[in-house]
Formats: sequence, C-alpha cells, structure tokens
Amino acid sequence: MQIKRRKSRVIKIGNLLIGGNNPVAIQSMTKCRTADIDKVLKQIRELENAGCEIVRLAVKDIQDARSLKKIKREAKLPLVADIHFDYRLALEAIESGVDKIRLNPGNIYKKEEIREVVAGLKAAKIPLRIGLNSGSVRDLRSKSAADKLVKSALEYIRIVEGFKFYNIVVSLKASNVLDTVSAYNKLSGLCDYPLHLGVTATGSPFAGAIKSSVALGSLLLGGIGDTIRVSLTDIPVREVYAAKVILESLGLRKFGPSIISCPTCGRCAVDLVKIVRELEEKLAAMTLGPKSRKALRIAVMGCVVNGPGEAKEADIGVAFGKSAGLLFKKGKPVKKVAYADCVDVLLKEIAK
Ligand code: SF4
Repeated sequence: MQIKRRKSRVIKIGNLLIGGNNPVAIQSMTKCRTADIDKVLKQIRELENAGCEIVRLAVKDIQDARSLKKIKREAKLPLVADIHFDYRLALEAIESGVDKIRLNPGNIYKKEEIREVVAGLKAAKIPLRIGLNSGSVRDLRSKSAADKLVKSALEYIRIVEGFKFYNIVVSLKASNVLDTVSAYNKLSGLCDYPLHLGVTATGSPFAGAIKSSVALGSLLLGGIGDTIRVSLTDIPVREVYAAKVILESLGLRKFGPSIISCPTCGRCAVDLVKIVRELEEKLAAMTLGPKSRKALRIAVMGCVVNGPGEAKEADIGVAFGKSAGLLFKKGKPVKKVAYADCVDVLLKEIAK
C-alpha cells in the first residue's frame, strides 16, 4: 500500500523544506527556560542526535527572545520561536534570527499586531505557523471543537493573506483524538498550506504516544501532514523517538535499525524488557550516525523455543537461554553472548 500525500505548497524553514513531496519532518520543543542558553543548547544537541529536524522554543519574555540570537549562532537545527500574548516578542525573535515564528490566534488576534509581525516575517523571509490549540481558541459560536479550530484558522489565514503573505504552516491541535483528526481533515481540503500535525496535552508518555499514534497515524495514512510533533510529558528526545516509530511504521520515513522483540512469556528467563528499553534508547540516539543509517531489523527474543526461528528472519538477532544468548546474523548462529554484554554486542554489530 502506498500513501498518496495531499498536495501542499513547499515552505522553507532554515535549510529544511516541508510540504509538497518533501519527507514528513519531525519536530519537538526544548523544555527549559529559553534564557538558560547552555541548557537549551544541550537539549537541542540531544534532539539533533535523536533525529529531530526542527526545534521550537518557548519565548515568554524579552530575555528569552534576545537569548535566541546566541542560540541561533550555535544551534544547527532550524529554530521556531513560540509566541503567545505579546506580538512584540515575535518581532524581537525575528530580530534574533529565528527560522520561523509560531503565533497563537487565540491570544494574538489584533489586526494591527498581526500586520507588524507579518511585515517582520516578510523582511526576514521566514514563515509563520498559525498554531491553534483547542484550549485557547476564541469562541466563534460553532458547534464542535473541530469546527471552532477550522473557522478560527481560516479567519486568521484570511487576515495574513490580506497582507499578501503566503509563507504559512497551520496546526489545529485539540486535546483529544477525534477533534484533532476531524479538524485537520476539514482544513486539509480548504487550503494548500503545509500542515503541522499534533495532539496537544496528550498525557503520560505511554498514553501520549498511543493517542498521537492514533491521531497522527490516521491523518498520515490519508496523506495529510507535512511535519509532526508528538507531545509527551517526558524529556524532548522521547517525542522524537515516538515520531520516528510513527513515520517508519507507515513507510513514510526510514531512520535506521528497527527492533523486533517478543512479548516474553513464562519461558523467558532474562529481563528482556530492560534489554529492549536500553537498546531502543541507545539505537534511537545513534540512528543518524553515518555507520548506522542502514534499515536493519534487529530481533531480540526471550527464549530458544521460538526465538532462534524468529531471530533468523532478522538481519541481526539474539535469542536468550538462561543467562546467555545466541547471536544470529542473516539467519546463521554466530556466537554466544553473555546477558550483561548483549546490548553492547548488538550495538557493535549494528555499527559495522
Ligand atoms: S520467543 Fe520465547 S519467551 Fe518470547 S514470547 Fe515466544 S516463547 Fe515466549
């Protein structure tokens, strides 16, 4: 099955193109004060290593906005300034050299203020994300949350287009799956701007990843979506790991090795959950390394009953006995591996 992507216009964010036939880009946010430059840069580097392609930073005061100048000089990823309430922070962020501005129509809606920001965006030649959240959308007396989001987005788009500005990305995030999917589906047929997909306030990493997968998965399957953010109450890199799995599972992107592991049962004599978690985290952090870009299938199986057979299907696999595992490559047993060494051994094999 091949996904037929919606035809959207191409927008440039720093050196990255989104929309059209460009790959669906992964984005996340830093989760510390933007004025804390060292911490922000550390998180941006971690995000970049994890495979993030666009990073957004909360700009809540003038200090944050001015800090963006230094962050921009050091960071490699395209930077998006996230602006609420005070349009002057957007002007300052543009001055600091960011690659995109996100405005929330729920709290920056005066035409004169939008006009000023758009003039700054035009001069800097950078795009705007019209980023709606169901929690802050102004009441437009429509019936459903999805209709409110769509109406509000269209109204804002019209204002911005009125200033002859079309360098736009749109997001319509509701806090539940059905409203989010409905809003994006409706808007997708009403404009050709690239869509930034996300569900807002999803909750714990477990529930959040599932809600995001259902919402983003169903939209992406229908060809809708040019960039995604998986919002999780967790460290930023886990949002990127989740986004990568969503895109890979739909065949939209390939990031490198993927793990197949058994669910375990009474036959498993080792802590397979711990091994898989450790391997997954370490792999996700190294997938952009030049040696590990190959789309390998790595099997981690809990016992020697079904394990070896299933591990044989993978490029590299390990099937465990009581305390040691048997390493397989392309279906052939290679050597015994001690439980304590198995993650390191697999990582070395993957990097070869
Ligand atoms: S591979 Fe072994 S341990 Fe894992 S689920 Fe199958 S039988 Fe159970």
